[in-house]
Amino acid sequence: MDSNASRTPAAPLPPPTTADAWSALVADWDSLRHGYHLGDKDEAVLRCVHSLGADVTGPHSLAWTLGLVVLSPYVGWGSPGPGIEAPVKDVLAAVALAHEGHACAHERHPYEPFEEDMDLYLDRLPGALEVLTDPEPGRSGGLDLQDDEDEHDSSANEDSALTGPELLERWHCPRNLAGFAGVALDYIGG
Ligand SMILES: [Zn+2]
Repeated sequence: MDSNASRTPAAPLPPPTTADAWSALVADWDSLRHGYHLGDKDEAVLRCVHSLGADVTGPHSLAWTLGLVVLSPYVGWGSPGPGIEAPVKDVLAAVALAHEGHACAHERHPYEPFEEDMDLYLDRLPGALEVLTDPEPGRSGGLDLQDDEDEHDSSANEDSALTGPELLERWHCPRNLAGFAGVALDYIGG
């Protein structure tokens, strides 16, 4: 077997259509991050890459991008097979390019704390992803990732008074997508 041969491209994963299906996918990504994923790790990464590549500016681009953020410790440090790191970096760079330069009036975006403490906030990301991928929007708990940490320090978190729709808007802001793509690229070593 030629280890340099590129893998058969995994078909893009059709976006899940139910909250339970998204939840299962997020749990799959998180199990890979924690090192107890039972399936083909590289195929799980490639499916996310190809799904994002087919949807760089589409309705699920945030979910796929955040999926790669959750997967970035495996890609960067988990000894993925050959031909995995390059397409991950390529698609993240494409997301950053497609979304950067967007002007907005938000003071902060959800990706910013990840630049300071990736490991801490990675633990909270799957919870936010479950809310963000819920096909029936309405929940907003779990979207303010800084709440738990800062709830006793009211001066530290001016975002804590944001409503659910305001938080959602910041998650979906193009600058947030570009920011998360950059965070993952930095973490992987791009
Ligand atoms: Zn914004």
